[in-house]
Amino acid sequence: MTAAAPNQPTLPLARPVTALAGVGPERAVQLARLEIRTIEDLLLHRPHRYEDRRQLRPIAQLQLDEPATTRGTVVALGVKWFAKHTKSIFELILDDGTARLHCRWWNLPYMEKYFAVGNEVIVFGKLLALKPRTVDHPETEVLEDGEEDFIHFNRLTPIYPLTEGLPQRWLRSLVWRALGRFEEQIPEPWPALHLADGASNLPARARAIRMLHFPETLADPELARRRLALDEFIELQQRIQRRRRNFETKARALPCHGDNHLIKPFLAQLGFKLTEAQTRVLRELRQDMSAARPMRRLLQGDVGSGKTAVAACCALMALESGYSVALMAPTEVLAEQHFRNFTHWLEPLGVAVELQTGSRKTGEGRRQNEECRNESSGGQGVVFRNPKPQPGNPQGATLTIGTHALIEAGFAPGNLGLVIIDEQHKFGVAQREELVRKGQYPHLLVMTATPIPRTLGLTVYGELDVSVIDQLPPGRGRINTFVRSADKLPQVWSFIRKRLAEGRQAYVVYPRVEETGPNGVKAVKREFDNLQQTLTPFRVGLLHGRLRSKEKEEAMSAFRASDTQVLLATSLIEVGVDVPNATIMLVENAELFGLAQLHQLRGRIGRGAHDSYCILVAAAKSKDARTRLRVLEETADGFRIAEADLRLRGPGELLGQQQSGLPRFRFGDLATDLDLIQQARQLVTELPEEPNSNR
Ligand code: ADP
Ligand code: MG
Repeated sequence: MTAAAPNQPTLPLARPVTALAGVGPERAVQLARLEIRTIEDLLLHRPHRYEDRRQLRPIAQLQLDEPATTRGTVVALGVKWFAKHTKSIFELILDDGTARLHCRWWNLPYMEKYFAVGNEVIVFGKLLALKPRTVDHPETEVLEDGEEDFIHFNRLTPIYPLTEGLPQRWLRSLVWRALGRFEEQIPEPWPALHLADGASNLPARARAIRMLHFPETLADPELARRRLALDEFIELQQRIQRRRRNFETKARALPCHGDNHLIKPFLAQLGFKLTEAQTRVLRELRQDMSAARPMRRLLQGDVGSGKTAVAACCALMALESGYSVALMAPTEVLAEQHFRNFTHWLEPLGVAVELQTGSRKTGEGRRQNEECRNESSGGQGVVFRNPKPQPGNPQGATLTIGTHALIEAGFAPGNLGLVIIDEQHKFGVAQREELVRKGQYPHLLVMTATPIPRTLGLTVYGELDVSVIDQLPPGRGRINTFVRSADKLPQVWSFIRKRLAEGRQAYVVYPRVEETGPNGVKAVKREFDNLQQTLTPFRVGLLHGRLRSKEKEEAMSAFRASDTQVLLATSLIEVGVDVPNATIMLVENAELFGLAQLHQLRGRIGRGAHDSYCILVAAAKSKDARTRLRVLEETADGFRIAEADLRLRGPGELLGQQQSGLPRFRFGDLATDLDLIQQARQLVTELPEEPNSNR
């Protein structure tokens, strides 16, 4: 495609809708509410369903509870008021010669002005009673005299999403006219791909757009959607490819393969042998870190698969080569935990480990860290402290661990060779890039325990190579998962007390911090005393996001040291927290969490040799929710769970609240379109290289 020349007249499809006859300022405002501003927007406005008006159902043949379209003549209408004129029913009675149909609208008296006796009306709805035949709040359309009936009638008719004041029939006519005028000018966006030649089994774009609005067969709308979705995916893949090429030509990698002088002693003192999967991934990482272009890799591994140890090795390669490393984690609790572990692992090797979170910087952090390690190790551990880099690490390269505070201006590492982002799905793409820009094309390792369905892997994460740790370390106890309704709580508590008496520990997770919500949604601060009472003599700790970081760290270290046996927390503990003696995870109001999120929470247990129990308690009423939660009872396979989540709750849920960098698709569906995404990815490699890839 050629670059647009200045002063070129606006492309026809890019013109505003007001260029169409009949679209004045008022209609333009209504259309804009539907995000329709240009003619192209209008042509891509997707019907939310279709009505088969080729054969309407006679009123006498309508079945109870079965949605159907029918038609009749208005024989009577009127509004009835009751309850002292505060409530109303508007009723419209239709007759089609076979029977009468009563259509009712509650508390919408103004509906009366849209109809008159003698009108022909099309009705879509389902019967809720037979004597008399009654439909409540149906969708309706008044047929006007004659000539345009071929647009609205005797066909598969599109039904569009509307906005207040915008009639279905008017919008449909507008689309019809816009198509008539502009269909020929809808370009085939990738002529080089010959998508319309039958090879792909998909229609040309222009034809797809016609089929979308005025399909000839019941299969047409889906065929049209697939073609238009493919265009969206090709556009996205092209952008991914462009960025990638740009990166490959500009970025020169820092040599970070290392020489093993730190990794060897690190592995020797680690206390366990890396699994095969960890070792294989490590080989992939080492290859990346010695390649000509910087590593851009996603490390995926189910909760507890041991990503941290792999990340540590990766950090050591950079440090061995004299480069600094930054590790960013989404919560202070997790950053502190990493800081403890890495300090313990690396300081004996002469590597300086720093901490930077919103509220704490290294000096203070290190001192407190040592205090709690002294307590929790019961004096057997030797405390290593190396405020200055040792001879093994002559360049003074450091490892800095922190939260998003690392992005802020204060953090300016010299010689940044590697950026590691833990629990990547908690960050936005923009945050990741900001940290990377603190160096000169440092290597990038992003890690996630939320398994990424392939569709997201090829889109949101399309720029990253992927490694998977597909094996858990040996010697883990089983995790048993149960879904229970809230009325079973007494039994649940007595079960938990038994496990606590055996010396195990438990997490209890509620959705809220402060105030109990509607329908008994629990808040940790409110319930703390109750829970302490229920569980006496066992001691309960409290952890949530509104505590000060010192309080958070105190709660964590008390739990780690078994000073408290139960930790009452919000989903703050969802990411990363590692206490092997904790074998119980109780989540109340579990219906409010996504499946992938619950799987993460469940990942906090099953980390030691004892059997573990994850108990998901959902409100007694919400049967649907309990059915959804059963997925977790049935499988521990993070991929299956993530796919189910994607299907049930959409990508937003899975990608977290943060801005994902994902475009909005009008037609593409990340839950179902894997084949199209793969096809698009293949197709862009066949596209001629763009002359101007400098974007
Ligand atoms: P995640 O992948 O969820 O981040 P972690 O890195 O926190 O998992 O590891 C979970 C636990 O497993 C930690 O206590 C860690 O020390 C331990 N671990 C990691 N690798 C191994 C291994 N190869 N053998 C035994 N234990 C391991
Ligand atoms: Mg982790």
